[in-house]
Amino acid sequence: MARADACEGMQVVTAAGRMKELSRAAHAAERRIGLVPTMGALHRGHLSLVSRSRSECDLTVMSVYVNPLQFGPAEDFGAYPRDTARDSDLARAAGVDILFVPEEGEVHVPGHLTRVEVERMGDVLCGRTRPGHFRGVATVVAKLLAIVRPAAAYFGQKDAQQLRLIRRMVRDLHEEVEIVACPTVREDDGLALSSRNAYLTTEERRCAPVLYRALQEAARRARAGETDASRLTALVRETIETEPLARIDYVEAVDDETLQPVTSIRGRVLLAVAAWFGRARLIDNLLL
Ligand code: AMP
Repeated sequence: MARADACEGMQVVTAAGRMKELSRAAHAAERRIGLVPTMGALHRGHLSLVSRSRSECDLTVMSVYVNPLQFGPAEDFGAYPRDTARDSDLARAAGVDILFVPEEGEVHVPGHLTRVEVERMGDVLCGRTRPGHFRGVATVVAKLLAIVRPAAAYFGQKDAQQLRLIRRMVRDLHEEVEIVACPTVREDDGLALSSRNAYLTTEERRCAPVLYRALQEAARRARAGETDASRLTALVRETIETEPLARIDYVEAVDDETLQPVTSIRGRVLLAVAAWFGRARLIDNLLL
């Protein structure tokens, strides 16, 4: 049933009210909705989430919304790549059933005052350099979940902190949605796909795979028996510093669930990095 509908073409929806109607109809027909929230500038990483949703759900909704709440005043909200026509073609080809591209005022209604804060988990790692970022993320995701009411929502491991924080938010708010983690899609040289890779110059692009190389090097060292977290983060730093174009923001080993720093590698530990290459701030991570 779902695939036959998909063949009729992708619907583009710009109003929250219309999206809610379609969601209500899907619920009435007992169709399982999968939601893939994105900020557009689609790449294979986003499309891998779509394909996972299609394999598990009857109806895949992709949202494309550059959420102003998650950008700081000095960040790239204005410059963030936007190309709705291209996104729409890619989404249709990937089998998205409904592309939700909310117009101004549809997600954050005029006069909105409500924010969702996941305490502690939003202040560490990227939250330190980007104060308020995760409040913006949690707020928009809570609203998208309320509008679309999916059975499952798909998130990339690439944004590990975001994924864990959304999981916690959904748990805390008793939301009835399954949060599905999808593996990071990479270029052949290891660079994690990201819409912000478009900011890299040729020279910066050549250096950027050092992030993943450094993480892998540390993972090898951990497998060989190194359990001291500070020695592993030092190794990651040293490797990244071999590339003069990289400017490290942070390298941290944290507990995979709470995101709080650990001193030794016991249980599931997330090794996470962020670094600037010119005006692009790139992140990557690996689970030890
Ligand atoms: P964004 O458009 O950057 O907000 O990302 C939308 C979703 O795609 C998030 O859940 C990201 O984690 C996910 N995503 C971004 N890049 C990748 C990637 N390289 N591999 C897998 N998922 C990704």
